[in-house]
Amino acid sequence: MSSLPNRKSFRHGVHPLEHKEETEHLPLERMPFVGRYVLPLGQHIGAPCRAVVRAGEKVTRGQLIAEPGGFVSTSLHSPVTGRVVDVGPHRQGNGQLVPAIQIEADPYSSQQFRERDPVDPFAMGVDEFAASVQRAGLVGLGGAAFPSHVKYKLPEGKACERLVINGCECEPYLTCDHRVMVERPAEVVRGVSILAEKLGARGAWIGVEMNKPDGIDSLRAHLPAGSKITVAPLAVKYPQGAEKMLIKAVFNEEVPAGHLPLDIGVVVNNVATMACLTDWFDRGQPLIERALTVAGPGVDRPANLIVPIGTPIRDVLRHCGINRDTRQVVMGGPMMGMPLATLDAPVVKGTSGLLAFTDNMVNHPTEYACVRCGSCLEACGNFLNPSRLARLARAGRYEELEGAFVMDCMECGACTYTCPSSVPIVHLIRAAKLTIRQRKAKQG
Ligand code: SF4
Ligand code: SF4
Repeated sequence: MSSLPNRKSFRHGVHPLEHKEETEHLPLERMPFVGRYVLPLGQHIGAPCRAVVRAGEKVTRGQLIAEPGGFVSTSLHSPVTGRVVDVGPHRQGNGQLVPAIQIEADPYSSQQFRERDPVDPFAMGVDEFAASVQRAGLVGLGGAAFPSHVKYKLPEGKACERLVINGCECEPYLTCDHRVMVERPAEVVRGVSILAEKLGARGAWIGVEMNKPDGIDSLRAHLPAGSKITVAPLAVKYPQGAEKMLIKAVFNEEVPAGHLPLDIGVVVNNVATMACLTDWFDRGQPLIERALTVAGPGVDRPANLIVPIGTPIRDVLRHCGINRDTRQVVMGGPMMGMPLATLDAPVVKGTSGLLAFTDNMVNHPTEYACVRCGSCLEACGNFLNPSRLARLARAGRYEELEGAFVMDCMECGACTYTCPSSVPIVHLIRAAKLTIRQRKAKQG
């Protein structure tokens, strides 16, 4: 057991029930291959990628099937050996139809990934390194799915002094990052060493909440002597894994409103992304699978699974068993995740969890008038006034919303979680932010 002396954290935040005991000790297991895979072309933030295969073509596991559609975009690879059966619209988790590549797995293939010789990232220039990461199709695996290479190609005049790795996994129920830290510490540490070196950082800090002592121990045991990497135990609090909260917790430094971590010389990445970075440079494996947690009261056999990207969610839930009381399946964690409109949607690069909830957990509570208790202000790690933002959003007062820093809201839901009147604060804010973005796009 680690000696964990201090409890670093940020100010405000909430303490939802963790619900991690069900899966935190369950080792990662491989999801068996299924018959058909669905690969949406836009499963990352930014421009969708462009298909480079057609229906009828044979593909192998790890083969490029779509190339980036711009700089803020990334590559997509086949998760299986098989045949492309369709390139066209498919319904995704939010109910929208999006272009996707569908692949039927070859039932006679061993689905063994053919490794290539290691490539030395230390011998590459920074631009070459970023381009290579883009070819790997790497995105932040914490849920946001931001293409990794964009963070690695530092803009003119910006420098990364400190690299921060997010091993907090502060969302209730989710434990897949925890298992990656326990079971793949060497790959995580190697990925962090590569990235810190390529970005020219003077050090790297892996922030891990103290409810994962075995994760902390495991990473520390793999740090080479004289390493520039520090494993920083952090208090258990939501949303500790949000970039600005994490930086505050690790360095006790604020990223000013309206600014990015890079403005104070920090780049933040997710811990599982580090293991994938190692897989790419050491074995040539692009992002074709990911770890995710399947849990919740509706699941018969909760699990931490390694799932090929593109596996239909219905198949994953069938593998774990889903009981008949299930009323809602959420992709991601319960605080920031998305309730699924269809189980035919696939696991995508940003799928950190699949949570099945039963009737009593998805009842929408009756909303009452705001009692001005101030709980939401106490909860907001960004020091916003969520109650006021919700009022302005409801009234459509967009200019005032912008003046109240609504665009700084990270949509963590801590305010909604704590509200005794069940005001749907984060939903109102999210809708208002979308309207503001659309109005700006229209104005050019
Ligand atoms: S206002 Fe935004 S950032 Fe603040 S608690 Fe609510 S959702 Fe989180
Ligand atoms: S927590 Fe709810 S009731 Fe309390 S001030 Fe905020 S919006 Fe109003």
